[in-house]
Amino acid sequence: MTHYVPAGLPTSIRHFIGGEFVDSVGGETFDVLDPVSNQTYATAAAGQQADIDLAVAAAKEAFDHGPWPRLLPRARARVLHRIADAVEAQDARLAELETFDTGLPITQALGQAQRAAENFRFFADLIVAQADDTYKVPGKQINYVNRKPVGVAGLITPWNTPFMLESWKLAPALASGCTVVLKPAEFTPLSASLWAEIFAAAGVPDGVFNLVNGIGEEAGDALVKHPDVPLISFTGETTTGQTIYRNCAANLKGMSMELGGKSPAVVFADADLDAAIDSTLFGVFSLNGERCTASSRILVERSIYDDFCARYAARAASIVVGDPHDPATEVGALVHPEHYAKVMSYVEIGKSEGRLLAGGGRPSGLPEGNYVSPTVFADVAPTARIFQEEIFGPVVAITPFETDADALALANGVKYGLAAYIWTTDLTRAHNFAQSVDAGMVWLNSHNVRDLRTPFGGVKASGLGHEGGYRSIDFYTDSQAVHITLAPVYTPRFGAH
Ligand code: NAD
Repeated sequence: MTHYVPAGLPTSIRHFIGGEFVDSVGGETFDVLDPVSNQTYATAAAGQQADIDLAVAAAKEAFDHGPWPRLLPRARARVLHRIADAVEAQDARLAELETFDTGLPITQALGQAQRAAENFRFFADLIVAQADDTYKVPGKQINYVNRKPVGVAGLITPWNTPFMLESWKLAPALASGCTVVLKPAEFTPLSASLWAEIFAAAGVPDGVFNLVNGIGEEAGDALVKHPDVPLISFTGETTTGQTIYRNCAANLKGMSMELGGKSPAVVFADADLDAAIDSTLFGVFSLNGERCTASSRILVERSIYDDFCARYAARAASIVVGDPHDPATEVGALVHPEHYAKVMSYVEIGKSEGRLLAGGGRPSGLPEGNYVSPTVFADVAPTARIFQEEIFGPVVAITPFETDADALALANGVKYGLAAYIWTTDLTRAHNFAQSVDAGMVWLNSHNVRDLRTPFGGVKASGLGHEGGYRSIDFYTDSQAVHITLAPVYTPRFGAH
């Protein structure tokens, strides 16, 4: 297989601080691999405390003295729309870079680029339409909410859809009037630099957007602990979230945590089976299975179980695995050899925990690169590790159930609670199940198709706090209550005896 390398790749990836591309103060770097050749294609600046200090200082200066937090919403919205226009205009370039760096199939990377643009457009519209509460106490008081951007927002993002997930934090943070320091994932730093050019061209003032590349335990940790960063928005693994949670405590920072998942798709016998099969295949194998909301556990009612498993496995075995740049590819290469090794170890564990119906290792004809065949295990017990633990790759566990109560117990019997997908044509069952399942987001008869106004987030070990729509604006702003007195206030006269 020829290895497609986009033209004009950088050989060094730098920080962006106070409007300038810069190296680390101490010159530290780390290697960046592409997931098809697993060769180093660039070195990236490895941010340390000193680099975070400079980035936070630039962001604080822009927040305390610059125009951005003081602009009228319409003026900020105009800039955000220009950002969206620029992202749309270069979606093909963005997608090819993202595909090269992450191994995501090109058609899916293109969709993610377009979604990134939509995030900016959405939050531009939202801040212009934003209304805040006013409360009247007739003849006595008026109270109103004075919404204020919180300050320098620390944004820490994962590698699975880097550019889109960065937009999910950058758009509401900037819309709210915050200034930011972004620490992107170290496996996939390539596309984040594009923000710097896009923002500058759209009219974002210097210092409003700062980017520090680096390792989580170094650059990320320094950002989390920095006293001038009052809030951290984090997306990543649950264990990392727990560490960050502890490290935010010293400064009582605001936190938003979007963490891992092990989401169930529950297929009842009365479901539209063709649609359920299409949807649950896409739900776990899209984005290479490196998807927080993946339907990685499929619970199937016993009477249709054998039929479902046979049809599902046949389709999984036909999924096109290959060069991420080929538009025909449905599953590309996993992001990094370390992650590949982790996913492959679960494939081996699964062989003793379930009945292997499809996949089970490296696809033939692809001797190099982080390729894993779409892998299906049936008859997986709820105690199995492949039922309980997030694999974050193209691996699915299928388990039968007898009754609605069994299905609910299985669905809720893991530590995570991000998404759930319910397949039934019985309206009453659908709503009762949706309301009982431990999940921040539920889809009835669909995979993950999301309206940007709806809350996004998980329960249990899948997260803390919900973003999405005005909730994101709530996170990046303080709602100050201002009380106006309209009549004499009864005041006990202490010391006036
Ligand atoms: P990760 O937790 O390893 O890393 C995420 C980010 O945190 C990276 O930028 C990393 O450098 C940084 N980091 C690591 N240690 C840190 C520390 N001690 N202090 C500060 N920052 C630190 O996650 P990942 O492997 O990049 O991403 C995959 C995970 O993300 C999966 O668990 C997936 O479910 C989750 N995810 C969740 C959502 C969601 O919305 N719920 C979306 C996408 C991905």
